[in-house]
Amino acid sequence: MATDRDELTSYAWRLLRARTLAASDICIVCGHPHADAADHIHPVSKGGAPLDPDNVAPIHGVRGCPVCLRKCNSEKSDRPLSDVVQLHTSVDWFAGP
Ligand SMILES: [Zn+2]
Ligand SMILES: [Zn+2]
Repeated sequence: MATDRDELTSYAWRLLRARTLAASDICIVCGHPHADAADHIHPVSKGGAPLDPDNVAPIHGVRGCPVCLRKCNSEKSDRPLSDVVQLHTSVDWFAGP
C-alpha cells in the first residue's frame, strides 16, 4: 500500500528535480554551478513541503562540487539550509571587484 504512494511520490519528485535543475544548476549550499541533484531547502523531516517547487533547489550530489570539492548534499543532510550556509566562508557572488 505504501508502495503506490512511494512510487507516485518518487515520480513527482523526479519531475520536480528535473525541472529544478533545468531552471538552474547553482548549488544552494556552496553557490557554484554544475549541481547535479536537488534537495529540500526546509527538510521534509522538519516539516518542509516535499513537492513544493519553492522548497526545492539545486545542490551538488554524491559526486560533490567540481569547483570547491564539497559534498554539499551530504553536508546538508537533513539540516535546514540556514545551518549549513553558516558553516560556509561567505562569498558574495554579486559583489563587484
Ligand atoms: Zn555545492
Ligand atoms: Zn562548490
